[in-house]
Amino acid sequence: MADRIKMTTPLVEMDGDEMTRIIWKMIKDILLTPYIDLNTEYYDLGLEYRNETNDQVTFDSAEATKKYGVAVKCATITPNAQRMTEYNLKEMWKSPNGTIRAILDGTVFRSPIIVKGINPYIPTWTKPITLARHAYGDIYRNTELTAPAGSKAELVITNADGTQTKQLIHEFKGDGIVQGVHNLDDSIGSFARACFNYALDVKQDLWFSTKDTISKIYDHRFKDVFADIYENEYKEKFEVAGIEYFYTLIDDAVARVVRSEGGFIWACKNYDGDVMSDMVATAFGSLGMMTSVLVSPDGVYEYEAAHGTVTAHYYKYLKGQSTSTNSVATLFAWTGALRKRGELDQNKELMDFADKLEQATIQTIEEGVMTGDLARLSTLETKQVVDTETFLLEINNRLKAILMNNKI
Ligand code: NAP
Ligand code: MG
Repeated sequence: MADRIKMTTPLVEMDGDEMTRIIWKMIKDILLTPYIDLNTEYYDLGLEYRNETNDQVTFDSAEATKKYGVAVKCATITPNAQRMTEYNLKEMWKSPNGTIRAILDGTVFRSPIIVKGINPYIPTWTKPITLARHAYGDIYRNTELTAPAGSKAELVITNADGTQTKQLIHEFKGDGIVQGVHNLDDSIGSFARACFNYALDVKQDLWFSTKDTISKIYDHRFKDVFADIYENEYKEKFEVAGIEYFYTLIDDAVARVVRSEGGFIWACKNYDGDVMSDMVATAFGSLGMMTSVLVSPDGVYEYEAAHGTVTAHYYKYLKGQSTSTNSVATLFAWTGALRKRGELDQNKELMDFADKLEQATIQTIEEGVMTGDLARLSTLETKQVVDTETFLLEINNRLKAILMNNKI
């Protein structure tokens, strides 16, 4: 215990709900505090405390993330009508992820954790594909109307000086529908910078795709903003890092992604990213093996698991029944955050520890010791399904061996 790893800057710790909250504590007790003198600024985003503080704690945790630069977040409940009664809530509080994303103005990057025996549905995908989704505008902020037969729909821009630009959308002979969407150069620019920074961070190529052949002003603007920022701010850095930025049409991108071996970042507009991230996650095999990091344009990072609070397992846990919940994505949220903290503080020991903990986790699964969800997917011949806690203890056995070997 004497030589636990020291941390100079606090890591923002956002605790959460249900089964993931149980896992959170186990990870800290079994795999972190025995090795690290954990320096965290703790925010309890569990639904009870969010309710008690009128959600102020969520805002405070996001502000702290801006201040320190790195956060790790546990999955949290987004309340619905049923949760209102279950937790006796004062209000149907908003999704903490939504609140934090709005404050940090970030882009979400999702990537799969690859292990032998859990094979993607697409056999050529041997390296992870990270999906970057723009989180502002388009159909998520749309205005829609029904257009009755005989009506005329027009697009009107009223300029600051009162002059107008008008364009006919359609003269409706029969009943129909219209939709107005928008985006902002600033938001597209933030998205682009977050993608370029992330690519440099992980040293992987960046692909960006839209439908600019059809949408000659709207999607084309996305393409231009990316191209300008790349030329002016990132081209040289990419050359030094030996990575590439390339733009292609979304349909071409889909074909290339499927034929690829992975190992790149795919940036998508809001809707494309919504759809494609589910496709990529499913094709890689399991939500329990997806990590997610929110990166703000000014270089602030928040790490989390891509799955929810695993409510069904929590109810079993409360009844005293054995659970076999996969903690890998939550554990990798911690290692991601610790490694980034280490990088920013030039704390090599902390970075090494994060690498070794990931190595021990992957080794455990590849040796056939895993939770029930993974056992259902794994093609390994000998598998041992373990409960939630045993899985972490098994990782710890291998971690100890890895750390020991390194000392000799
Ligand atoms: P979920 O927690 O992701 O779980 C859905 C099902 O997927 C589970 O019942 C389980 O299937 C399986 N699963 C997910 N993660 C697993 C893991 N780590 N290990 C083993 N199995 C896993 O989604 P949900 O039930 O729709 O949502 C529950 C709560 O989470 C909701 O209140 C929602 O608001 C919240 N949520 C939070 C976030 C976030 O904070 N980022 C994201 C999504 C949802 P089996 O039951 O078949 O084993
Ligand atoms: Mg979706």
